[in-house]
Amino acid sequence: MTDSIELNSLTLVKVYLINYSLLFVRYLIFAGLAYTFFWVWKKKKFQPYRIQKKFPSRASILTEFKYSASTFLIFSLVGVGIFIGKQMGWTRIYNDVSEYGWGYLVFSLIATILIHDTYFYWAHRMMHHRLLFKKVHLVHHLSTNPSPWASFSFHPYEAVLEAGILPLIVLILPIHPIAILLFILYMTMMNVLGHLGYEFYPKHFVKSPVWNWNNTSVHHNMHHKKFNCNYGLYFNWWDKICNTNHPEYADEFERVVSGRLIETSEESGVTLKTAA
Ligand SMILES: [Zn+2]
Ligand SMILES: [Zn+2]
Repeated sequence: MTDSIELNSLTLVKVYLINYSLLFVRYLIFAGLAYTFFWVWKKKKFQPYRIQKKFPSRASILTEFKYSASTFLIFSLVGVGIFIGKQMGWTRIYNDVSEYGWGYLVFSLIATILIHDTYFYWAHRMMHHRLLFKKVHLVHHLSTNPSPWASFSFHPYEAVLEAGILPLIVLILPIHPIAILLFILYMTMMNVLGHLGYEFYPKHFVKSPVWNWNNTSVHHNMHHKKFNCNYGLYFNWWDKICNTNHPEYADEFERVVSGRLIETSEESGVTLKTAA
């Protein structure tokens, strides 16, 4: 049905603009809500949860915002490419859920997340190679103390590489648009979490074998601060296998969480005293 849309330049410009608007609004919602809530509105309340106590400069946050806005210019082009591919029947995107069933849809979502995790780890390792780092990845590392606005702060070269996951997925895996949408939302949420600047996971999370296959906000924050360690995205598997976790990652996590526990209990002590 929808496959009969005519592929003329006006349609493609419209698809591009719609793509850009959706990407930009998604960024404003996810990064904007996190920033407004934690960094502005409840700044004082959540101070004990800060990973790096200091806040970055306004100029640094503005740079993150500008590069993120430019990233969506590239992402939208890739969106147009996928749109053309779908119309031409080159992709494995299917429209009817019943074709593979809901069970497969859930499987395809999980598979996409796992493939992206692997794709990101190795692409990220590659970008840290001395021949590529300055040209491709330095922009993202301009933030040594990132804010949620850094989630998509990439040099255009890096934006191309980061966007590459979606064409790869739709070419190799039968996938429904609902699974693509859920993947994009999950990816954005986790990306904002990695750049949040606050750690909310409980004490011993990183030392517990039940949980420590997940990455934490401290994990990616350390990557921004120390550069050549903690390359993973959602999960810690690749960093463990390749021995690229920072040797002090677990201790740093405990330090951040213990500091939070001390500060919050001191704060409640003060509150109790004033109440009494
Ligand atoms: Zn990096
Ligand atoms: Zn980052």
